[in-house]
Amino acid sequence: MDKFVVGLTGGIGSGKTTVANLFAAQGIELVDADIVAREVVAIGSEGLNEIAAHFGESILLENGELNRASLREKVFSNEDQRQWLNQCLHPKIRSRMLQLINSSSSEYTVLVVPLLFENGLDKLVNRTLVVDISNELQIKRTSKRDAVSKAQIQSIIDSQMSRKDKLSKANDVICNQGEITDLEQAVIALHEKYLTLIRKAKD
Ligand code: ADP
Repeated sequence: MDKFVVGLTGGIGSGKTTVANLFAAQGIELVDADIVAREVVAIGSEGLNEIAAHFGESILLENGELNRASLREKVFSNEDQRQWLNQCLHPKIRSRMLQLINSSSSEYTVLVVPLLFENGLDKLVNRTLVVDISNELQIKRTSKRDAVSKAQIQSIIDSQMSRKDKLSKANDVICNQGEITDLEQAVIALHEKYLTLIRKAKD
């Protein structure tokens, strides 16, 4: 790939969105996996048509949109259906991401992916950047942001790659234990680092 891509990841509530917005403030374009994942099942999409053909029209809401809760229920305890869904959606998500990366015009692109390592999407990027915080803070900040129980947050944390494994795979790490204002300096330093790496690669 001729585009330089930074894969930004971290557990739930670690601060990915906050960090991503700081890169955007430096003029860097973002590609957000969560947005792409919604796009590939939007009304009229190939993804939604395939899902409706597979699970039946009852998987749709009255307005024709995907009934996410119903889909989650169907794949939650059924490994075969979960695999079917992943095989249906992952290639579409991947190719849409590549399309967006290729049409990006900033010096590099930040690809924001909650499950970057878990889904093997680190293969699409030049460098990985992990936003790191303690389990306690993850629960505290997520429960402040979302109306979900601490137990639900912990089960999401448990379903994601461990903090230790993510750190061992990271090329760069931003520690988000401090204030949001501390993040800006960290992002500016990394931004300079990436620009230098890109310049060196071109020499
Ligand atoms: P993620 O995208 O990884 O789930 P967010 O960027 O949404 O995480 O951050 C989770 C929540 O914590 C948000 O409400 C955000 O505003 C808040 N937050 C992020 N970083 C900090 C920080 N350093 N101090 C206090 N709150 C923070």
